[in-house]
Amino acid sequence: MAVLTKRYSCLILQGVIFLYVIGSLVYVAHRHFNNPQGWNPSFGHRRPQIRIPYNPSYADQPSSYTIGPYHNPEQMVIQLPAPGNTTQRVKAGFVSLVRNNELIGMLSSMRDMEERFNKKYNYPWLFLNDEPFTDEFIARTSEITNAKTYYALVDSSMWSYPPHINQTLAAEGRKLLESLPYGDSESYRHMCRFQSGFFWRHPMLLELGWEYYWRVEPWVRFYCELDYDPFLYMKENNKQYAFTISFIEHGGTIPTLWSAVKEFVRLSHSKGNRYFSRPASDSLYRFITSPTAEEYNMCHFWTNFEIARVDLWHTQAYQDYFNFLDQLGGFFYERWGDAPVHSIFVALFLHKEQIHFFNDIGYRHAEYERCPDQENLLKRCYCNPAKSIDFADPMSCLNQYMDAQHSLPEEDQLTVSDIMLQT
Ligand code: GDP
Ligand code: MN
Repeated sequence: MAVLTKRYSCLILQGVIFLYVIGSLVYVAHRHFNNPQGWNPSFGHRRPQIRIPYNPSYADQPSSYTIGPYHNPEQMVIQLPAPGNTTQRVKAGFVSLVRNNELIGMLSSMRDMEERFNKKYNYPWLFLNDEPFTDEFIARTSEITNAKTYYALVDSSMWSYPPHINQTLAAEGRKLLESLPYGDSESYRHMCRFQSGFFWRHPMLLELGWEYYWRVEPWVRFYCELDYDPFLYMKENNKQYAFTISFIEHGGTIPTLWSAVKEFVRLSHSKGNRYFSRPASDSLYRFITSPTAEEYNMCHFWTNFEIARVDLWHTQAYQDYFNFLDQLGGFFYERWGDAPVHSIFVALFLHKEQIHFFNDIGYRHAEYERCPDQENLLKRCYCNPAKSIDFADPMSCLNQYMDAQHSLPEEDQLTVSDIMLQT
């Protein structure tokens, strides 16, 4: 009896093992034939197969999207142009002021730009440097793009102390600001002055005859597929200036900039140069200040990304403005940045419709990034809108921008200079 029981349990055990082996084989075969990518060793919880084909048109470019800060009832609908029009060209290109030792960062930025956009359009690249570019820099940056690349030196006429600057005072100014970002840096000040007053009249840029430029820095990221030409978009929609990130400046670097700007408006007005005579409600002045313009609120467009018309900076208004600021010496005695200098001018001088926010371009510079949160745009981006500073981070000025684009308060029927001159 005992022998019989033992024999039966042995048979049952063999049967169980047999069924287990057959069951496992069926399971593995089922998984294998349902998974065209082949063997997937992850047993257990079955994850859905998400495969994003590397193909820029995997989600078609939408024809429009809706945007607005959530508290603002006036959401804007932005129409996008038809994708892929590469026949109509704009005289334009990328411009990068960059150092030889930033080669890898430059290649990284270029790779993103080429992949997301420029391999379809082949706009040229212009590299500027206050020192000659190395052979390696030239070889590697020209290899990574099919477009033409140009290299030019920034000489001492655009990168040195002008004679009216007291260099002892400048050194004292750097000491005073040494606790602030780049507060003690001399080269950073030359860079900001060059970006404010000179790149747009660099002989190589003038020779290329570009109507628009797109400024690109090393180590930035572009996250979204771009199937249309932003230069053409700007030209056809009469846009003069465009940005992706707006930000609050550290006030310590520009203590006297706002009073200098007001002084410039007063002086131009007294000379009969009505540079800022458009109705304030038609300008973006509320992006940078209160209704009575007493203080600068430190909002500015980040210029590490900047698409603009070259001739915006060639206007008499801007040249007078830059020369006035340069004469005061704040680029050296303080640490005036090209971002507030550009942004203040643009906000006071342009029609607000001439300024554009490229919401469909996901972008990162240093530790800050932005990403569109519209579902139809996001399908074409490799970024996380939860990390976007746009409407969430207190350092972002996008709410102020949206409000300024929408607001038409009564008192703004005054002209921009009326407002700037009233206090
Ligand atoms: P940040 O963006 O304000 O932190 O300043 P960056 O260090 O990124 O400088 C802004 C841009 O100017 C970058 O494209 C830099 O490569 C460039 N840049 C800054 N200083 C110099 C310099 O001394 N020489 C050159 N050739 N480029 C510079
Ligand atoms: Mn930078």
